[in-house]
Amino acid sequence: MTDPSERSGPADGGRGLPGAGLVKGLAVTLKTMTRRSATQQYPDVAPALPPRSRGVIALLEENCTVCMLCARECPDWCIYIDSHKEEVAVPGATRPRQRNVLDRFDIDFSLCMYCGICIEVCPFDALYWSPEFEYAEYDIRDLLHDKEHLSEWMGTVPPPPAHDPNGEPAKEETAAARKAAIPASPADRPGAPPGRPEPRPTGNTATGEGPPR
Ligand code: SF4
Ligand code: SF4
Repeated sequence: MTDPSERSGPADGGRGLPGAGLVKGLAVTLKTMTRRSATQQYPDVAPALPPRSRGVIALLEENCTVCMLCARECPDWCIYIDSHKEEVAVPGATRPRQRNVLDRFDIDFSLCMYCGICIEVCPFDALYWSPEFEYAEYDIRDLLHDKEHLSEWMGTVPPPPAHDPNGEPAKEETAAARKAAIPASPADRPGAPPGRPEPRPTGNTATGEGPPR
């Protein structure tokens, strides 16, 4: 059996004096005791999460056109969509138009891996991240959120961040500004010959009838 006193000094591989490890450990303990704790007492103290945290997916139902892109791209196949077609009468159109009506839109959060692909691929801004994360259930089947449940999360979606003042304007803003800059009538356009007569309406001057409508 080795004498503990033999462990100290260069002869024991430089492990130091006996009890040095204990003193070092106590010093670390003392230092930690006097430092402010970083632990948050959840659920008594709510965590301060970044506003764009990936908590739960919210659905803006009126934006969904049932294009099925999200369900097709989901790597976990945990989005379930059902719909039917409906005829809508359009004033002035010869035939009624058809539109998709969403019957079912479920996300199974027991399968979802929060990759965000469904939100990225949605071309109609119908899906959003909400930072809400307190939706644990005792029964795993309750993690299947239907469209009503997903729509309720919309109230918790934070507003989008403000535009960068030095950034480029949005394409829609540029197009609207260009449209507004175009004069209403051709005579008002720059370079148009002055006094150009307006096209006369056609009609029967003898009978006094107006132009055909
Ligand atoms: S976040 Fe990813 S895994 Fe979850 S529903 Fe969307 S695409 Fe599927
Ligand atoms: S990608 Fe968007 S619009 Fe298309 S089905 Fe999914 S949520 Fe609806």
